[in-house]
Amino acid sequence: MRNIEEILKEANAWHEGHTEFRNGMHGDGWLQKDLIARDPKYLDQVARLQADQIMREFPEVELIMGPVTGGALIASNVARHLGKEMGIIDGKKDPVVFHDMNIPEAGEKVVMVEDIISSGVDMGRFTRFLKQSGAEILGICVWMNRKGSEIENIKVSSLLETPFKLYQKEECPLCAQGVEIKYKNVRE
Ligand SMILES: [Zn+2]
Repeated sequence: MRNIEEILKEANAWHEGHTEFRNGMHGDGWLQKDLIARDPKYLDQVARLQADQIMREFPEVELIMGPVTGGALIASNVARHLGKEMGIIDGKKDPVVFHDMNIPEAGEKVVMVEDIISSGVDMGRFTRFLKQSGAEILGICVWMNRKGSEIENIKVSSLLETPFKLYQKEECPLCAQGVEIKYKNVRE
């Protein structure tokens, strides 16, 4: 079976090169996750990899949860591969709420799925919300993790082992070398 990098490259979602993000950060590449999310063929292939990784790392999982919007699509696909139920976290609301379709029971073993963790701020909100609800969060499984290996003391498992690098603009080694910016105003 192909790995995540091969799938992303076939979907033209893999962009290597000097990148300027909309938030002002610089980097050496980025993922165009929408090209995966909008094509069920690719989304299914990536979800299969996530399902396999969850079975290896969090085999006791009972429920897959994903945040609106991308994470919810991913949760549905991953849960199908695992033969488990899924639910949706609506983080566009403040405070965060569960979609009524599936509200975890106290102690239910949950794995969160998402495409990319960038700042980690949103995932921190969702994780705290899930903990407060009484669910037991086994872990978080994403395509690419730009933050640390834990969020709120919960393990983050990533399909990509070496993500693209992020730099403060002032500390960007590509700028220091005079490399021209290849991608501008990117929102990952
Ligand atoms: Zn730069």
